[in-house]
Amino acid sequence: MSPYLHFGQISPLELALRIAPAAKFASQADVDSYLEELIVRRELAINYCEFTENYDSYDALPGWAKQTLADHAKDPRPNLYTEQQLESAQTADPWWNAAQHEMNTTGFMHNYMRMYWGKKILEWSPTPQAAFATTLRLNNKLFLDGRDPSAFANVA
Ligand SMILES: Cc1cc2nc3c(=O)[nH]c(=O)nc-3n(C[C@H](O)[C@H](O)[C@H](O)COP(=O)(O)OP(=O)(O)OC[C@H]3O[C@@H](n4cnc5c(N)ncnc54)[C@H](O)[C@@H]3O)c2cc1C
Repeated sequence: MSPYLHFGQISPLELALRIAPAAKFASQADVDSYLEELIVRRELAINYCEFTENYDSYDALPGWAKQTLADHAKDPRPNLYTEQQLESAQTADPWWNAAQHEMNTTGFMHNYMRMYWGKKILEWSPTPQAAFATTLRLNNKLFLDGRDPSAFANVA
């Protein structure tokens, strides 16, 4: 639903009210999980952008995250790709390329695959700062739900 939420074609309240009775057809655990994503994660992202001055920058990452990334900055990176190679899905990883093709052609990608997609860009970029910038640019250029608060929070 994220593209429809992003463009305001449906409200999260309407979704929440319709999902709650779906416990008749799905497990309560599925309903709870959906509501947790729709309400908690989505609104955490909105709060992150509202209350973080430089929410779209690497500097906004918490200290512990920057420390871990700095500790691993000199790890060997045998495969480095340019943003153009990434966007045109020209890596040595067929699964990643398939996800990138999906993004290019449909403007969407499943949440689990987005996690893999972003982590590989970190591995294939010369610095974590460059990875952050590339991931955010591709995310916001190619996803229908890009440029949303959830985009900035999840890329970070
Ligand atoms: C690297 C990366 C980039 C992402 N970029 C975006 C983006 O540009 N725009 C965007 O809207 N989401 C983004 N997400 C979050 C998530 O992947 C999408 O919201 C989700 O894939 C949308 O699919 P769905 O509507 O089927 O979600 P469902 O799993 O059906 O969840 C229902 C709703 O809950 C909310 N939600 C679910 N997961 C998250 C989450 N992790 N954070 C915040 N809200 C969530 C969304 O509004 C979603 O529509 C990103 C995640 C990652 C890991």
